[in-house]
Amino acid sequence: MASSSSEPMSRCRKCGYSAISGGTEWSRVESSLGTMTQCPECGSTDVMTGL
Ligand SMILES: [Zn+2]
Repeated sequence: MASSSSEPMSRCRKCGYSAISGGTEWSRVESSLGTMTQCPECGSTDVMTGL
């Protein structure tokens, strides 16, 4: 698979998992604040997006 540095990445602060922002790797959960990105590895929603 070709890697591209132009794709914005998201990274989990808890376990360090990273994948393309908005990619299918990430789970999404509804909260009172809206839709949040959830790490598929550890289940944390403490994810930094747009890196
Ligand atoms: Zn994680």
